[in-house]
Amino acid sequence: MLTDRAHAERLSRQWGVDADDILLIALNACGMQADIGVSRLRFRLRLDSQPEGQLYMILSLGRAQSPFELAGHEIRLNGQRIATVDAAEADDAVLGYWRKSGKVLTLNSNARSQCTGCVFCPNTLEEASDPRLAVLDDLRTYFAAIVEDFALRDMADVEKVTVCTGCFQHEHLALQHLRQVRAAMDTQRCSGTLHFLSSVLTTPQGLDAAAAIGPFQLTLTAECFSRRAVILKESKARLTPAEMVRVLGQAADRAIATNFTYIVGLDSPDVAIRHLAGFVPVTTSFPLFQVYQSHNDLMDVFVANGARDIEFYLHMRREIEELYGPTGLRPRSWENYRPLWYFTFADEPLCGDRI
Ligand code: SF4
Repeated sequence: MLTDRAHAERLSRQWGVDADDILLIALNACGMQADIGVSRLRFRLRLDSQPEGQLYMILSLGRAQSPFELAGHEIRLNGQRIATVDAAEADDAVLGYWRKSGKVLTLNSNARSQCTGCVFCPNTLEEASDPRLAVLDDLRTYFAAIVEDFALRDMADVEKVTVCTGCFQHEHLALQHLRQVRAAMDTQRCSGTLHFLSSVLTTPQGLDAAAAIGPFQLTLTAECFSRRAVILKESKARLTPAEMVRVLGQAADRAIATNFTYIVGLDSPDVAIRHLAGFVPVTTSFPLFQVYQSHNDLMDVFVANGARDIEFYLHMRREIEELYGPTGLRPRSWENYRPLWYFTFADEPLCGDRI
């Protein structure tokens, strides 16, 4: 994938892509060699080339073929130090965490750790600490605990609460939970966006109900376009690309903010770009393009042809920039921990909150 920093700089000149972005894309795709008894690690990363800022990353460990290695607090690329890590902890499924410097709260409020079925999902590798918050009282109690823990007056300054779970089997159960989350937000004077990542909110009636809950964002979990029945859990796989475009279009018609998740490294670039083109007109916020992270030999089986080479990701990046460049939508580092973009999008610098 990548031999050393000089290799990244040669590719940078050849592709017109920031060398640090290339290093980090390769790190996401390869994971690291490390034998510290955890399969996934979340941490803050400080690049030697840009020591003034930190990034947040979640990576696979124990990847024996990776050119990257975790040695103490150093990340090395074939023996050459490129970065240091800070605040590292095992990536178990937690109930909630902050993004965007404390302005966005992500909730795994429906026992995400119990969900299985997508071949790339790390749930089966994780320790879980995300019990189900099944009733309004649970959510109110949880929000009150957050306010107390972080010494906040209330959650009035929280811009967005993201409900991140694939575990609702039915639309009406998801909507019931989302109404409860909104009611709990109200008790903390939070009028921000309620953001839902899912594939079960699909009917016009369901979208009407979601729009009525208040400011709402739907991130449809598209993930991939080929081999869907093999790669995804059944409730996700049954949605076709054409239906996803229909759902996002109908959501946008109801003033719901829209985007989707897509995993780069599962489809061939031809298949990916052909389908992604249809999503551009129904997307109102930059999609979450995530580098495929394989955690073991079984997950390696699903890597697309060519996706063990860095050029695969640079090609996809360039194609997506051509699709989304004219829309004015741009990636935001704080909302995606394994992106194709860190410091630049095409020839534009990316600014703003990074973690
Ligand atoms: S829907 Fe798939 S990716 Fe999401 S939690 Fe369930 S198994 Fe994991």
